[in-house]
Amino acid sequence: MQPIGHLIQHASTAPFYKRRFGSLGTDAVSHSKGFAEKIPTMTLEELVAEKIRSGDPYSLRCAKGRLPLVVFQLEYDTETALYVALDRDDLKHYAEALRRCWSLLGLKRGDRVAIFDYGTSPVSYLASSLFTPYLKQGAADLLGCLPICNDGVSHMARRAVDIARLVRPRVFFIRNDCLQPFTAEVEREGLRLSDYTLFLVAVENESLLSKTEQGAFERKLGVPVYRLLRMDAAMFLAMECPECRLLHSWQDLYLVESVAERIEEQVDNEKEHRLVITNRFARTCPTLRYLSQIKGSLEPAGCPRGPKEYRIAT
Ligand SMILES: [Zn+2]
Repeated sequence: MQPIGHLIQHASTAPFYKRRFGSLGTDAVSHSKGFAEKIPTMTLEELVAEKIRSGDPYSLRCAKGRLPLVVFQLEYDTETALYVALDRDDLKHYAEALRRCWSLLGLKRGDRVAIFDYGTSPVSYLASSLFTPYLKQGAADLLGCLPICNDGVSHMARRAVDIARLVRPRVFFIRNDCLQPFTAEVEREGLRLSDYTLFLVAVENESLLSKTEQGAFERKLGVPVYRLLRMDAAMFLAMECPECRLLHSWQDLYLVESVAERIEEQVDNEKEHRLVITNRFARTCPTLRYLSQIKGSLEPAGCPRGPKEYRIAT
């Protein structure tokens, strides 16, 4: 991945950033400390405002000379639809992030991986080159796994349970909002899920199950439920580690910060720490310092499953 200075230079060819950086321009800082002080954070609301103002589907985030090859609508409940564009290299690195999520879970050649999610979710579209044009190798192709997909809508829960029963996948990736109907269906059929799959992974864009919800589903289903964090606006992925139970992510693909933000509704100026993501690989729609809705803090690295990886507590 390129140094941060190059990243800023590249991003500043996109009108969205050009205006924000102002005089910073191409003389921008080249190390992460100065980076955090000088580069302003950006929010989903700002992307929405820019989309409405300019009419540009990517909120003027496309870098100069970049050709959008694959375009996805971002899964946010915003007043206007937001899109992100990727080229071959963007897809390749994004799929590498998903591969690492799968590897952290111990997935390997021959494992069947079931996905109960929408086609616009990176958990689905980065899984295999069969699903996405210009994606040379998805996570399943890279690891030699076999992906099985089910539409990510809750009324398809019965079929998802059939997939578990008949295909016996090692893992089931499942949208947070499908977990409850899936669980109800498992209970209705009197299925002992652990006979069919080893664990579940709960996924939703820019949202995480609370620890309480996670524990409740684990008790009901009788298998571990891990959490995968997606932030589609930043093309970011982080995976809960089965060993340390913190979220892992990767320093060569992302720069992760935890930034104190004032809570609007609090009168006493209380602050909470939120995750801020810079994407180090996205060239078509660069993402610098995306201020997310996810509360979290960075813990020291050093997990045996990835000694140099970021560890995020939420
Ligand atoms: Zn770990």
